[in-house]
Amino acid sequence: MSVATGLGYDVHRLVEGRPLIIGGVEVPHTHGLLGHSDADVLTHAIIDALLGAAGLGDIGEHFPDTDERYRDSDSVELLRAAVTLLAGAQCVIQHVDATVVIERPKLLPFKPAMHQRLVEALGVGNAQLNLKATRGEGMGFVGRLEGAAAMAVATVLRPDPAAEGH
Ligand code: MG
Repeated sequence: MSVATGLGYDVHRLVEGRPLIIGGVEVPHTHGLLGHSDADVLTHAIIDALLGAAGLGDIGEHFPDTDERYRDSDSVELLRAAVTLLAGAQCVIQHVDATVVIERPKLLPFKPAMHQRLVEALGVGNAQLNLKATRGEGMGFVGRLEGAAAMAVATVLRPDPAAEGH
C-alpha cells in the first residue's frame, strides 16, 4: 500500500428560500445553497478529495447533476456511495481535513453534529476527520454573501501500482 492525497474544492451560490445544508446538517439561516442536490458544499468537497486520493476521478463523473436520481439528494448518501467506491478499490481512508468558507452564519455550534454525521458516513474514527470554518472577511463572493466554498484534503492508503502488475 502507498499513501495518496486528494484535494476537493466546491462552491455553491447562496439564495433565499433554500435550506442551508452543510456537512449533512441543516443550519438555520435566511439563505441556503443552490444546487441540483442539497448543495452540501462541504460534503461535496470531501467526496472530491476522497475520489482524488483514490484516483477515481471526480464527483461529477460518478453523480452527474444532469441525473434526476440526484435531484435534492442527501449528499451524505453520495458520500456513503463514494466511500463504497473507495472500499471497492481497496483504499483505506486515513484522514480528512476540510474547511468551509462562509461569511455567515457562524458554523461553530453546528460543527459537532456535522462531524458526527460525516465520520459515520466515512466509517472512520473521530480523530480521522477535522472540520474548520472561516469567513471571507467581507471580500470576494463569500464576503458579498453570494455563495460559500469548501476545501478538503483526504489521505488514503491505496494498493501499490506495482502490486497490481502495472
Ligand atoms: Mg457541489
